[in-house]
Amino acid sequence: MELKKEIIRLKDDKNAVILAHNYQNADIQEIADFIGDSLELAREAAKTKADIIVFCGVDFMAETGAILNPDKLVLIPSRDARCPMAAQLPPERVREAKKAGYPFIIYVNSYAASKAEADICCTSANASKVVEALDGDTVMLGPDANLAWYAEKETGKRVIPVPSHGYCYVHKVFRIEDIYAIRSRHPDAKIIVHPECNSEVQEASDFVGSTSQMYRYAVESDAEVIVVGTEIGLIERMQREIEGKTFLPLRASTCIEMKLNKLDVVYKTLLNENNIVKINEDVALRAKRSIERMLEVS
Ligand code: SF4
Repeated sequence: MELKKEIIRLKDDKNAVILAHNYQNADIQEIADFIGDSLELAREAAKTKADIIVFCGVDFMAETGAILNPDKLVLIPSRDARCPMAAQLPPERVREAKKAGYPFIIYVNSYAASKAEADICCTSANASKVVEALDGDTVMLGPDANLAWYAEKETGKRVIPVPSHGYCYVHKVFRIEDIYAIRSRHPDAKIIVHPECNSEVQEASDFVGSTSQMYRYAVESDAEVIVVGTEIGLIERMQREIEGKTFLPLRASTCIEMKLNKLDVVYKTLLNENNIVKINEDVALRAKRSIERMLEVS
């Protein structure tokens, strides 16, 4: 409790803002100025008037904050909070793929250097909109192959995944058998999942969306029981904040990297103003074009 008060005091003294992803631990979400998905966090980062941004998420999210705010101090509490999926698409892989001549859409879950090579960025909330906005019937999208499958299904365009089997380990664990099992136990429940889930899991669900789209669905749905296929942090947030409904995990799945941002680490980072996220100027400029094109489209 004291630590939370101290963080809030420091935040006010230093004109800092804390942005937290939906997958962060509850105590981090409680001290955050804004909680959301990658798209919402990017929008907040783009419009903040704060001098310091503490990005409670993983590396690529903090990088996005730094790209959009070259004059602000962007801090990430844990340097080890690195998304394993982002590592699946190095910049040279994007350059190589682009030789095929199709527009390259890069999922926000990627490194700044890879974004700099792509034509436009997307998040799980706007991938289909971005695909639709581009000319031509064929595009490339990476690193998440399941998101590429989802965007292809939604738009009817050909979406080539790069790499062909890029994935998030947190969402890869969900199985069609989990859906059968939960439907037999809770026949009236609605099942909602993230587009990083396998295609058969997406097809067997009632709704597919980003974390914030799932949150909105949960608020608006008449269902008393909602089964959620994503990282456990969002499910705990739903149970805390949405009254009168029961939220069950499709299967308990945790992003270890997201959970590295502990309260004491946030405090020390803000106090010492360390773990600064800095992007090479040329890379940042080119990556910013990809992100801004996405923000215009969505
Ligand atoms: S949930 Fe998956 S995509 Fe998101 S940070 Fe963790 S590993 Fe990366």
